[in-house]
Amino acid sequence: MALIDRVTVTAKHCDMIGQDVEFREERVYPSADFLRTHGNAYWVKSCGCTAAIRCNMAGIPCRWALNNPDSDRF
Ligand code: SF4
Repeated sequence: MALIDRVTVTAKHCDMIGQDVEFREERVYPSADFLRTHGNAYWVKSCGCTAAIRCNMAGIPCRWALNNPDSDRF
């Protein structure tokens, strides 16, 4: 059975919203057996900013708010 973990990759203060935010990855580890034989290999299922939904709803342009791929604030 696959194991899923959410890992904070980095944190920063985002000037666009004036708050501290985190960039997180959702990692999938295939199985405990796979880990034993292949080490810490994992698949990144998704990644994003903890404020992405709020920024998207407010129309703040950012790659991590999924409304401007050219603006990466991390
Ligand atoms: S989604 Fe982008 S603009 Fe919004 S807080 Fe995160 S990094 Fe900043």
